[in-house]
Amino acid sequence: VRARVMQVDQSPSVTYQDIGGIEEQMDEVRETVEMPLKSPEMFEDVGIDPPSGVLLHGPPGTGKTMLAKAVANETDATFIKMAGSELVHKFIGEGSKLVRDLFDLARQEEPAVVFIDEIDAIAAKRTESKTSGDAEVQRTMMQLLSEMDGFDDRGEIRIIAATNRFDMLDRAILRPGRFDRLIEVPKPDADGRRQIFQIHTRDMNLADGVEFDELAEEIDEASGADVKAICTEAGMFAIRDGRTEVQMTDFYDAWEKIQQDESEEEDVSR
Ligand code: ATP
Repeated sequence: VRARVMQVDQSPSVTYQDIGGIEEQMDEVRETVEMPLKSPEMFEDVGIDPPSGVLLHGPPGTGKTMLAKAVANETDATFIKMAGSELVHKFIGEGSKLVRDLFDLARQEEPAVVFIDEIDAIAAKRTESKTSGDAEVQRTMMQLLSEMDGFDDRGEIRIIAATNRFDMLDRAILRPGRFDRLIEVPKPDADGRRQIFQIHTRDMNLADGVEFDELAEEIDEASGADVKAICTEAGMFAIRDGRTEVQMTDFYDAWEKIQQDESEEEDVSR
């Protein structure tokens, strides 16, 4: 079970240079997660505890997982990921056991960055979700909080949680000493989208004259994950056309196709 539920990456390859358009958020994560791991003595000298847990919140596909991986990479920490949704609908006692296993593993692998995605699955307000009324889900969350309360803040384990549904969270997890640093990771603006295009086309064979200013302006509301998808799809258009160079038109065609696919998906789910 453990292997499926927990994803362990001894040395993630994502770097800060791979992340575009969210500099402020990156700085904040570096200050709250990287500094305590790299220079714990700075906190000791001043006599404060670094934040215990950091909560990243914002729409899907904006780089939250990337941020957590990049910090682990930068600090040579093991990256351990668990999704909140994997902790529900388990047998009695299994959710809390998995949380215990998660922290046991983190202690073994120290230094470690523990990333809990979809934390809302185990930490939603009782009124907001069917599952959170479940006593088992409550127990899983209590176990998480007690693990967090229990360990030395100056230790070599940092916890990052993420959610797309901040409004649903039970405020108990946001109390001091828990997830007391909130970092909003928004969708990128036009300049951010341009940066993300540049990142994802670094290894692409681009035709002369490809530049992303205009496209980045036009694709309002696109997330980082959408920009990545456009780049891959643009490459597919070039391949289908028997070319090795990707042209500007491929990127526009890709965006159109992705929007079409999305609206078809919406029709199906309706
Ligand atoms: P979710 O809430 O759905 O888990 P997330 O915010 O954790 O999403 P990521 O998994 O970090 O999103 O991003 C998915 C993919 O989208 C990344 O692997 C990357 O290719 C691309 N991406 C997203 N945001 C950015 C960004 N800011 N800069 C560069 N690439 C990005």
